Amino acid sequence: MTSKSLSIKTAKEPANNPEIIKVPESTDQVACDGGHPALGHPLTYYRFDGADYVECGYCDRRFVRRK
Ligand SMILES: [Zn+2]
Repeated sequence: MTSKSLSIKTAKEPANNPEIIKVPESTDQVACDGGHPALGHPLTYYRFDGADYVECGYCDRRFVRRK
């Protein structure tokens, strides 16, 4: 008997996959409120300040500037 059964189980699906949100390259500032009326967070603004992306400190969303 050479039957191998590979069962890969995921213990836990990540509940909140950090989203990646692409914005035009000319964007200087983004606002994030979590995107959900109940599970969101206070509206917060982030400036790119020359960086390629910023991450929301509340919900880990990442805002990426398109090249
Ligand atoms: Zn957020």
